[in-house]
Amino acid sequence: MASNKRYDYLVVGAGLFGAVVAYRAHKAGRRVLVVDRRNHTGGNTYCEERDGIFVHRYGAHIFHTSNREVWEFVTSLAEFHPYTHTPQANYRGEIYPLPFNLNTYEALWGTTSEEEARAKIEEQRLHLDHEPANLKEQALSLVGRDIYEKLIEGYTEKQWGRSCEELPAWIIRRLPLRYERNNNYFNDTYQAIPTGGYNPLIERLLEGCDVRLNCDYIANREELDSLAERVVYTGELDRFYDYRFGRLEYRSLRFEEEQLDKEYYQEVSVVNYTDNETPFTRIIEHKHFEDRGTPHTVITREYPLEWSEGKEAYYPINDERNTALYAQYRALADKEPRHIFGGRLADYRYYDMHEVIEKALAVRID
Ligand code: FAD
Ligand code: UDP
Repeated sequence: MASNKRYDYLVVGAGLFGAVVAYRAHKAGRRVLVVDRRNHTGGNTYCEERDGIFVHRYGAHIFHTSNREVWEFVTSLAEFHPYTHTPQANYRGEIYPLPFNLNTYEALWGTTSEEEARAKIEEQRLHLDHEPANLKEQALSLVGRDIYEKLIEGYTEKQWGRSCEELPAWIIRRLPLRYERNNNYFNDTYQAIPTGGYNPLIERLLEGCDVRLNCDYIANREELDSLAERVVYTGELDRFYDYRFGRLEYRSLRFEEEQLDKEYYQEVSVVNYTDNETPFTRIIEHKHFEDRGTPHTVITREYPLEWSEGKEAYYPINDERNTALYAQYRALADKEPRHIFGGRLADYRYYDMHEVIEKALAVRID
């Protein structure tokens, strides 16, 4: 790309999508400027060290994928160690293993075999003569009343700030339902945590690129646009277009961190509080991701929050209204001659990290 401008690429957002595109552009000999409105790189994967504990600042991030290319890409850049995610649910003090599997059914009903568990679920299951219209119907038809009431309804309504009847069915399809004894939360071939947290991976991806932090693209659009030929934008798409069709909705979060003078606080890295009364959805104990033998531990309580301007947009809300509104913005975005849009916010999709990387690896670098 021959150009008089200082950079070939301006990358807006130093999260995984932006960082992977920046890495590939730099490797292809392009000059790259990365900006982020936060005071750090890494987006939601950013970690902070607390005396030997790597705290996942924006919630627990477990890397998992079945895509070999993605796996080989990340492990060629940073060191990862094996990890299997086995979260638990706490319903009013009762502990249940997740995801739903024979161990969960035994804790709920005392059933010990697949046949007994299937019979119990069948007895409670909602039998539909149509596709599930919402999350409640989907959950009741899949797992029956007990699991829905103890492990799904309260958690989901807190997390999304809406009743399960107003939420799309697909959200719950992320959760595996098993008839074996297996507390591994993910079905993927590869599962691991980067040693020393995600920052070394991000730093490696951004090597050779110029980086400007505390810099909001929308507030400095004219100046930044003039610096580069192409722009990779990973922020909210409705904001890019100054909300001209209306606002997309997001779900936000608040994280409350606490350091404790004990070796461990809970048995596993993540415990979901699935009742309706506890105001937070989960407690994360970061040390389970990498234990360097510290005498103390750090936990984070994760509180769901209604999103409004100025708060971080963590989750897209892919219901009918937002999906239709997003399609209007996307039609504009697809016509932009020099902008590339991607990542969780610009695509308005509930992507995991491996999906974001897969998309970023597919971006054409001119
Ligand atoms: P982000 O990480 O959001 O990065 C976008 C960046 O763009 C941000 O740093 C933002 O500040 C910046 N930005 C936006 N607009 C502007 C602007 N106008 N100017 C300048 N900068 C801007 N995935 C997994 O695979 N496993 C997990 O266990 C997992 N757990 C998660 C837990 C939580 C609580 C959350 C919220 C997400 C989780 N994810 C997990 C998903 C994972 O975080 C995302 O898939 C991934 O980080 C998205 O990368 P991204 O680059 O698209 O977006
Ligand atoms: N979910 C639930 N109970 C749980 C865990 C998850 O009902 O104990 C539901 C909830 O609606 C949640 C969805 O399943 O939003 C997806 O869960 P996941 O753990 O994948 O959420 P994430 O970690 O992406 O927030």
